[in-house]
Amino acid sequence: MEKLKAIRGMNDILPDESFKWEAFEHVIREWAASFGYKNLRTPILESTNLFVRSIGEVTDIVEKEMYSFSDRLNGEELTLRPEGTASAVRAVIEHNLTYSAPQRVYYMGPMFRHERPQKGRYRQFHQVGVESMGIPGSDIDAEHILMGASLWRELGLEEISLEVNSLGSSEDRATFKEALVEYLTARRDELDEDSIRRLTKNPLRILDSKNPDMQSVIEGAPKLINFLSDKSQKIFDEFKRVLDINRIDCRVNPTLVRGLDYYNDIVYEWKTEKLGSQGTICAGGRYDGLSEQIGGKAIPACGFAMGIERILALVDLNSRRFSVKSPDAYLIYSGQGTDVIAWETAQRFRADGISCVLHCGGGSFKSQMKRADSSGANFAVIVGEEELSQGGLTVKPLRTGDLQQTVKYDAAIALIKDARDS
Ligand code: ATP
Ligand code: MG
Repeated sequence: MEKLKAIRGMNDILPDESFKWEAFEHVIREWAASFGYKNLRTPILESTNLFVRSIGEVTDIVEKEMYSFSDRLNGEELTLRPEGTASAVRAVIEHNLTYSAPQRVYYMGPMFRHERPQKGRYRQFHQVGVESMGIPGSDIDAEHILMGASLWRELGLEEISLEVNSLGSSEDRATFKEALVEYLTARRDELDEDSIRRLTKNPLRILDSKNPDMQSVIEGAPKLINFLSDKSQKIFDEFKRVLDINRIDCRVNPTLVRGLDYYNDIVYEWKTEKLGSQGTICAGGRYDGLSEQIGGKAIPACGFAMGIERILALVDLNSRRFSVKSPDAYLIYSGQGTDVIAWETAQRFRADGISCVLHCGGGSFKSQMKRADSSGANFAVIVGEEELSQGGLTVKPLRTGDLQQTVKYDAAIALIKDARDS
């Protein structure tokens, strides 16, 4: 029979790697809670319309990257979420969550984009996202930046740099668009096919083209930041002032426009040099118009999302926190009546805070000891007929040359805990 495989670009996260993910998720929950953010869990499938209307029809994600299909059972047009902001806003509107107070939420989970798989770019990837809704800029945007900086510190990531820009208001962008189209039209013969199409449909998107041949045209283009109204300029200046208070360095990058249509004013990306061309680990900005775009009332809002795969590629896997945790004890038994004590002891261990694997599947004493050794446990705990008659347990250290001892239950847990916690 043909051997079935996972879908290209979608990875299994195997047991010897998943510990790293769990440790990361634990850090995220504590970190989000420390800033007062609550968890929001939305479905992975949404109406296709949600993403078309929020991300924008003429964007890479909607044009080329979405997993969309009609449900053959009822004809609904559905899409596996390519990002989390649209769903979060949909949920906040649907449940009227900003009615009495602003919302600070976070989520984490898989996202789906049909991209060309390569290091740091997958078709199922994972994001942590943070969104604040019901709060106008700029202090809340700065809070999001501070959250990023705190997280990099917490994870021990170094040399992560911050680039910021302002996209202004929709009026600012309309004025800018005219100047941009004029410039691009004059250099039409240098544009690629995508860009020519976008010239009339969504010229701003040309600025985030990843085509290397387009980069010089893009660099010479007019800069949105020179088209800001006083109001948007103030928002941007205030944002940078609050970053300054928090001693966070940033570089203004006038070509940073982001790949989604819903942003206005503040946008930013966190980058590293260590991951080659997939160097953006986190990105976000303000999206005050998004709620109305998907049928809600106007809600000022902003947020950011980070790519978990890219961040985990940077964390120091030698640090204790991100290394695989083995059980404290591996319990083996052999002989008439020993199983009763073994099952009971295993449960008592767990209740007393000792993680314990109970050998299953039988086998000789020798083969059980082999399993104990390969489990990574610090101790084998043996219940044989002798132990049964003495009412004790034999505790055999597996990682040191220390001798085994036969002791009572309380002494056994003391031995195991002492070794673990020292
Ligand atoms: P890129 O420019 O690398 O394509 P993006 O601007 O499309 O990123 P966003 O939509 O802003 O990405 O998503 C936020 C973060 O999610 C990115 O900074 C990146 O870390 C991560 N990310 C996005 N797409 C992928 C992917 N296909 N595989 C892995 N991580 C991804
Ligand atoms: Mg992308």
